Amino acid sequence: MGSVVVSLDAELGWGFHDLPEPPANRVESGRRGWSVMLELLDEFDVPATWAVVGHLMLESCDGVHEDHPAPPGWFDRERGAWADREDLRFGPDLVEGVLEADADHELASHTFSHVLFGDPKTDRELAAAELDRATEIAAEWGESIDSFVYPRNDVGHRDVLAEYGVSAYRGRSPTRDGVRGVFDSTIRDQSLVTTPRTDEHGLVNVPASLFLFGFEGPARTVAESIWTDPMLELARRGIDEAVRSDGVFHMWLHPNNLTSERDDQRMRSILSHLERRRSETELTVETMGEVACRIRRSREAGIDGAAGGVDGQATVSSN
Ligand SMILES: [Zn+2]
Ligand SMILES: [Zn+2]
Repeated sequence: MGSVVVSLDAELGWGFHDLPEPPANRVESGRRGWSVMLELLDEFDVPATWAVVGHLMLESCDGVHEDHPAPPGWFDRERGAWADREDLRFGPDLVEGVLEADADHELASHTFSHVLFGDPKTDRELAAAELDRATEIAAEWGESIDSFVYPRNDVGHRDVLAEYGVSAYRGRSPTRDGVRGVFDSTIRDQSLVTTPRTDEHGLVNVPASLFLFGFEGPARTVAESIWTDPMLELARRGIDEAVRSDGVFHMWLHPNNLTSERDDQRMRSILSHLERRRSETELTVETMGEVACRIRRSREAGIDGAAGGVDGQATVSSN
């Protein structure tokens, strides 16, 4: 029997602060989507991995970040356009919501300030500074960081993760995100279930299976007027595949993808299908950290199939 993992890239303004024109509807939906997801995950008792941008766990900040080796201008939006937007730069109230939820969520890291690790301009020193600050703030909260999600799934500096005690990261999905993925003829035959593997640094790669909001805009509206939501169909298929396999169906999203009630409805329908399959079968829900623990245990016990090979990761971008 396989399992299902849900991970969320929780970032408020930090997911967009480096963009010349941050998309207003996504930026302004971060808090709303975060609260809706907390409620839904509690309602369906689904423990998820919340990969939080470390800066959100601060109470305040002067925007200087003097000791941070980020390139010049990296914190410009925090100091400038968003200087009076504390709701986009901080979210200790929301992070507390994750820790106090009924569902047993995992607090994971999404860096300190959403630096892209796979960018050639991100050197080891910058990657280490992001991990250093993120793990330090977590420790101040009495939390440790076992799992890590790369901003825009841009995998890099895996050795630095290992150095800072991280056990698991979310690797790139084998299927393409977005509209092309949904209409990709190969997706019909391709499994949505993945096999977590240990890399050469001892990290467990828990690859993404499906980005739940990769099918939006006019194409979604047309498709939904003819069929049911195609993303819901894919998610149901992934959950059903997990029931029949030993692998992991790993779906992910940003809280800020929930920009309207239609998006909430998609999540409710997916979680309700998951609830049904859990009640009928032995299907489990795991956090990324729990997957890593399980893989390590079976590896130590010498069970084949868990050790896996080395996987080099390319980069992909989808926020
Ligand atoms: Zn700051
Ligand atoms: Zn992000």
